[in-house]
Amino acid sequence: MANIPEPGNPEPGNLVPVEPEPRIRLGRLQERLQGLGLDALLVTQPENVRYLTGFTGSLGRLLVSRQGSYLIVDVRYREQAARESSCQVMQVLGSGYEEATAEAVRLSKARRVGFESGALSYWSHGRLEVLLAGIARLIPSGGETEALRLIKDASERAALRRAARITAEAMDETLSRVEAGMTEREVAAEFEVRMRRKGGGMLSFPTLVGSAERSALAHPEPTDRVIADGDLVLLDGGTTVEGYHADMTRMLVVGTPTARQQQVMEAVREALEAAIALVRPSMPISRIVKAAQGVMERHDLGTANSFGLGHGVGLALHEEPWLVEGEVGVLQEGMVIALEPGAYLEGWGGIRLEELILVGARGPERLTALEGRPLALFPVAKSC
Ligand code: ZN
Ligand code: ZN
Repeated sequence: MANIPEPGNPEPGNLVPVEPEPRIRLGRLQERLQGLGLDALLVTQPENVRYLTGFTGSLGRLLVSRQGSYLIVDVRYREQAARESSCQVMQVLGSGYEEATAEAVRLSKARRVGFESGALSYWSHGRLEVLLAGIARLIPSGGETEALRLIKDASERAALRRAARITAEAMDETLSRVEAGMTEREVAAEFEVRMRRKGGGMLSFPTLVGSAERSALAHPEPTDRVIADGDLVLLDGGTTVEGYHADMTRMLVVGTPTARQQQVMEAVREALEAAIALVRPSMPISRIVKAAQGVMERHDLGTANSFGLGHGVGLALHEEPWLVEGEVGVLQEGMVIALEPGAYLEGWGGIRLEELILVGARGPERLTALEGRPLALFPVAKSC
């Protein structure tokens, strides 16, 4: 009973109304418009719309202007949009999204309207140009909201932590049940059901299971192949929580591993640990990529590691920052990245280990690590 506040005597924290995070994000974008030389920005990229409004529907557009913002949806989503977002909701009537978008531009009185050039179709752009002739000019733009999304705020971090935890527990339980005679498809099904039961949402992406030489494929779709003694098994997958993705990969060998399997596994594990050890604010991404690549080269696997080291993760499974050779950026506190070194040997198999990491003020927070659980489910020699 002690934890329940008495009526009329709320806890001090409840006295200050907390501004919803989408409204804070939208405010930040509005502040940026002037510097970009824009009166308004038309946001059509679905994750950006969700990030700025809180609206979770599959279709919708947002016109952000300095005066105010309009969330444009069709009749299916009118009620949901009004419930989820504090933006003014505009419903598409009859003719379509372009007409409603033009009406929002007219109401905002914007003259220079940016649009996300990577997320507006050629047809939509042409139609809008016709509807806005003499009213407003469309200016190619993009990347403004993505720049805000790079740094995860408190509610995003909480969702990512939960998605990672559910994924890690489900993966650990699944791999400990894999045995010779199971099919790849059965392994995927087991993993997916466990995530759902633990409170996971939609899958981050269709689960990948590759056994034996199929583990060398970047994206092995699970098949009816029967897993045999001595096989490598790769499991890569994740769940979403409130739209935020988890992404992790673990490996196992059914039965006793060969010396070669142990050796390649140890190289990949060492590359992952070398990369994670460098994760902290202001660290150049190129140094992390080089560190992992250096380990692979020392193990004579330099050319077997060809898919890039990793990527940012958030409302999109793959987003900035990109951890690839030649990247010039640095890590910043609040970024969430997946690091996934691998060795892929055609005809033999592949080994990939993937960990989801939050860049903390003082270093890495491993979101997909379970205390006391190994990265690979067979004995791996300690590195010297
Ligand atoms: Zn990944
Ligand atoms: Zn993955």
